[in-house]
Order: sequence, then structure tokens, then C-alpha cells
Amino acid sequence: MKVLVPVKRVVDHNVKIRVRNDGSGVDLANVKMAMNPFDEIAVEEAVRLKEAGIATEIVVVSIGPAQAQDVLRNALAIGADRAILVRTETPPEPLAVAKLLKRIAERESPELILLGKQAIDDDANQTGQMLSALLGWSQATFASHIAVADGAAVVTREVDGGLQVIRARLPAVISVDLRLNEPRYASLPNIMKAKKKPLEDLAAESLGVDIGPRLTVVATEEPTVRQAGVRVGSAAELAGKLKEAAGVF
Ligand code: AMP
Repeated sequence: MKVLVPVKRVVDHNVKIRVRNDGSGVDLANVKMAMNPFDEIAVEEAVRLKEAGIATEIVVVSIGPAQAQDVLRNALAIGADRAILVRTETPPEPLAVAKLLKRIAERESPELILLGKQAIDDDANQTGQMLSALLGWSQATFASHIAVADGAAVVTREVDGGLQVIRARLPAVISVDLRLNEPRYASLPNIMKAKKKPLEDLAAESLGVDIGPRLTVVATEEPTVRQAGVRVGSAAELAGKLKEAAGVF
């Protein structure tokens, strides 16, 4: 079974982001970038499926600038076999990503597409759902456990009220949640080996889909700064402060 794993290059989750002065977006100049954390979980799951003898090949794909090669090499070091960079300088919206991934899926014919439930930069949580609709494939979102057997994936999903278990016929698109697994670190020998693994470079235009933006960012703002708290000496003082804040005297 071939598994396709889309991985996005995003601002590293440890970086404190800054908004550009003109409010047009986040300042990406000299900022450390990394693989979207949910996509690391998706790569890890694909590698575990391969180690279990269920997956035979893992192909990772990233849509973005030439520098997105870094996250692809990282995925190859974790255990993916082959990588595809779909190169575009314009950051694509989820619909454009889904259309490009559909083209890649048509070329590669994977039985399973494992992707992150959301990218931590746009927090869209849309790409997997759109991709499964465009392909007409089964979909399972927010997976916290995946078991593949007999042409289907039994997926435990994290839903508001608890856990839901569904069976999705393959081919399927599965988006992964935080508790699915704990991704491994790539070892130094595997980082070296990853340099020799195949990485195909494709121009997004060559895939013949309209990836033009449909949204305009109207404003981007920093979250409001939280006021410092007040330390109280006793429960009575706390009750007094609360009454005061509520306007009850
Ligand atoms: P989103 O819908 O933007 O929150 O992203 C959900 C998932 O779609 C991510 O976790 C990735 O697996 C995949 N994805 C989104 N954008 C890209 C991209 N530019 N390249 C590769 N995969 C992407």
C-alpha cells in the first residue's frame, strides 16, 4: 500500500510571531521555519505502517517555495521513501493545496493520504476535507488511532463528546490529531541517508490547476496583551475584589 503524506513548511511552533507593521500578515523575515507539527505525526504514522508491513512506500509532498525542501528532507530522514516539491512562491490557500494534491494523488495512486488536521499558521483545518471531496474518497478526520486491514481503515476520532470509531473504505484521506503518536527524532545516520533519497521538483503551474487566491487578508492583529493579575492576601479580600469588579458594594 502506497501512502501519500502532505507536509507543510510553517513558522516553528517555538517562535513568537510578529505581525507586519502594515497588518498584511505575519513577518516571515529571518524566522525559523519547520514542518507543521501535525504533519510530523502523519509522517510518523506512515513510517509505523511501513514498519508493520502494511505500507510499502511513503511519498511526502510539500507545496511551497524552494526552501520547503528542508521539511521534505526532514520527512525523508524520519523514514519516507520519496519526496515531491510542488514549487510556488505564492502561499496557496487550502482549496488550491487540495486541487494540487488531487493532481499528485492522480499521478501517484496512493491508497491512503495521511495529513495533519490543521496547519498551525493558517489554522484552516480545511485541506483534508476538500481533498477527499475533490477525489470522491472516504474521509476520516481528527484520528487518534488508525488500524488498516482488509481494504479499510478503522479510525478512532477525537470528537467533542469523546471518541468515535469509524470504518473508512480505502482509498481514504485521514487527518491526524495530536494524540495519534509521538513522532521520533531523525537520527544522524538517517539525516545523511535522506540526502540521497529522490526529491522531485515540480512547478505548480505544470499541474494545470487554478491556484489563484480567492481570499484577501483585510487585517492581521496581535492578540491583546493580558493585564497583570493582582495577588490577594485572603479569601475575604478576594470576595471584596470580585464584588468591586462586578459593581456590587
Ligand atoms: P490546513 O487545512 O491549511 O489547516 O492544513 C491541513 C493539512 O493540509 C496540513 O496539516 C498539511 O498536511 C496539509 N497542507 C496544507 N497546506 C499544505 C502545503 N502547502 N503543502 C503540503 N501540505 C499542506
